[in-house]
Amino acid sequence: MSRRLPTAPEFIAGIRAGNRVVLGQAITLVESARPEHQALAREIIAQLLNAAGNDPSHVTGTIRNPPSAIRIAITGAPGVGKSTFIEALGMYLVEQGKKVAVLAVDPTSSVSKGSILGDKTRMERLSASEQAFIRPSPSGESLGGVARKTRETILLVEAAGYDTVLIETVGVGQSEITVHSMTDVFLLLLLPGAGDELQGIKRGIVEMADILAVNKADGDRVKLANQARAYYLNATHLLAPKTSGWTPRVLTCSSQENTGIAEIWHAIVEYQQSTLENGFFTENRRRQAEYWFREALDAGLKAAFFSHPAVQARLSELEPEVLAGRVSPFAAAEIVLKEFEL
Ligand code: GDP
Repeated sequence: MSRRLPTAPEFIAGIRAGNRVVLGQAITLVESARPEHQALAREIIAQLLNAAGNDPSHVTGTIRNPPSAIRIAITGAPGVGKSTFIEALGMYLVEQGKKVAVLAVDPTSSVSKGSILGDKTRMERLSASEQAFIRPSPSGESLGGVARKTRETILLVEAAGYDTVLIETVGVGQSEITVHSMTDVFLLLLLPGAGDELQGIKRGIVEMADILAVNKADGDRVKLANQARAYYLNATHLLAPKTSGWTPRVLTCSSQENTGIAEIWHAIVEYQQSTLENGFFTENRRRQAEYWFREALDAGLKAAFFSHPAVQARLSELEPEVLAGRVSPFAAAEIVLKEFEL
């Protein structure tokens, strides 16, 4: 991007034509901290969303007019086989004629330079496919920043014609909740052998899952995988019914031997059909749009507040007073907030 930046119409034409280089550049704009890049990214996304047949169908998709893309969260403890699974599912979908985008949300990636999806050799076949687009996690100081960028990237890849968006996340808790708030269906990968404590999976994560898949059901692990399946089947039966009206499916697969992959895809399709029929799919996307709207307002307000010169002056004046116990935190906050009154 050191040369002249394409204009918004050039970006849009390139993205619509499915040009992966232009798509990658547009995502780089979304990820950039430079205000002029962000302004251009906003313009591109706004125009793409305004275009006929684009976002309205995402939000108001009905069974007769299904949303153009499905967004799938894929999570599980490190080593469970997420990359291997995404390669297997991605290749299966590509063979069905689908266009697959693989994104990641990994708030640790600014430290580790992309611990997930950073190494594309882990998805060798998929990354070589013309029908697949793989993008490592954006880096960022906060999960919120990473999440916002990924949310906008979803819109870009969908505008470029990717109909299946897989979003991988690390199995550590908060990032799953974030990915849950930007996807339609939540897939949790598990290891053979029972017990989520043993797998380092928090209870809340199991509750979020729409589909649970015990991976590595191959070789001498088949029996253990079936035991895990029975355990999780029982565990999901004990959970409160989901607002989606969907009963979680528990399946087994081997990403290495490509078994059970088609069954998982069928469960995803079934989930989509069932939630489109009962209205949950559309309602969920509406709620997500509202959530991200509020989040963006929140982030924008905070940024405007803390960059305001009068606020900054008062802050540096009052902070030592608060720390020394001479002014109460609440009184100080009120004084600083007053500097920002419109
Ligand atoms: P991630 O950290 O969750 O992305 O896991 P990876 O995809 O990197 O896989 C971790 C290890 O498990 C690698 O050595 C894979 O080859 C192996 N693995 C992944 N899926 C399977 C599977 O279905 N069967 C077996 N036997 N090994 C697998």
